[in-house]
Amino acid sequence: MKILFYNTKPYDRYWFEPMAKDYGFSIHFVEMRCDEETVSLAAGHDAICIFVNDYVNADMIDKLHEMGVRAILLRCAGFNNVDIRAAEGKLHVLRVPSYSPEAVAEFAAAMLLTVNRYTHRAYGRTRDFNMNINGFMGMNLYQKTAGVVGTGKIGQAMIRILKGFRMHIIAYDPYPNPSADVQYVSLEELMKQSDIISLHCPLTDDTRHLINQKTISLMKKGIYLVNTSRGALIDTEALIDGLLEKRFGGVGLDVYEEEEGVFYEDRSNEIIMDENLVRLTSFPNVLITSHMGFFTKEATQAIAQTTLENAYALETGKELVNEVLPGRS
Ligand code: NAD
Repeated sequence: MKILFYNTKPYDRYWFEPMAKDYGFSIHFVEMRCDEETVSLAAGHDAICIFVNDYVNADMIDKLHEMGVRAILLRCAGFNNVDIRAAEGKLHVLRVPSYSPEAVAEFAAAMLLTVNRYTHRAYGRTRDFNMNINGFMGMNLYQKTAGVVGTGKIGQAMIRILKGFRMHIIAYDPYPNPSADVQYVSLEELMKQSDIISLHCPLTDDTRHLINQKTISLMKKGIYLVNTSRGALIDTEALIDGLLEKRFGGVGLDVYEEEEGVFYEDRSNEIIMDENLVRLTSFPNVLITSHMGFFTKEATQAIAQTTLENAYALETGKELVNEVLPGRS
């Protein structure tokens, strides 16, 4: 099987190269993102492998189909970047539904602790021998209320971590998990009662801009908000307005609405044209990271393993257990 890997960085080779050899796959890494301009590179391959900030729309699916490409291998869990309906009957879309929920949940907790206790800024100050702690007063998590939106694999891992701080946990999920040891409330109640909110739901038509002017107005003053799910869960302009009105204690964003083409790249020598992103980075109580919640040895190994197992199942005609089908994933 010949697979074209789009949007690759040196670290992608770490697991994929040796594992693909074991499977006997021929893999070809390119740095370019998958988009309308680069889709033609897929000619001569059986499958393409893409990541969170690549996209495949209906036109591209037709082109891939015409070129004889049989599958899109997503080396991630989310699939909002592929037109699943357009792919039906033309291309198989296979994903990695779960690799290490703990990797993302631990990162969400790290973001919460960092924005709350300013360790990122304290590090900068002490390196300059500025030992002044003015402006770094945080909040105890102990006995505070944490609101978890989405109680799937990552949300549940986050709940386990937050319980370690002896927080009171409430959750919202339209499909509550009966085995989750948590008190479910409505989204409105969660917004009103929480001292911190962590987002762990997928991006869908229902969840786009879940955090908006209205939901922000319900939140307690001084709320901490962490988003490690997908950027468009938050209406960025409403968030900026809320920050300017000093409604937030702190905000941790591992994902951002307009992250495509910016995250994962070194743009340090360029003029950044995205004014909202520049505005967000200017707030002392906002921490932005570049969609790296998944980035542990264990998670990346599991991603490579499942991605190549998906390809192997396709090649050998086995059941495609990780296939994404319209309305069924
Ligand atoms: P999951 O499918 O196990 O859980 C998602 C949960 O969200 C489900 O329980 C579902 O019922 C719930 N949900 C659906 N619609 C909802 C709504 N309208 N409101 C609230 N909850 C809703 O997924 P997961 O593995 O826990 O991953 C969650 C998200 O994390 C993914 O969709 C992905 O976007 C994101 N993610 C980010 C990274 C990263 O590196 N930052 C890595 C992996 C996943």
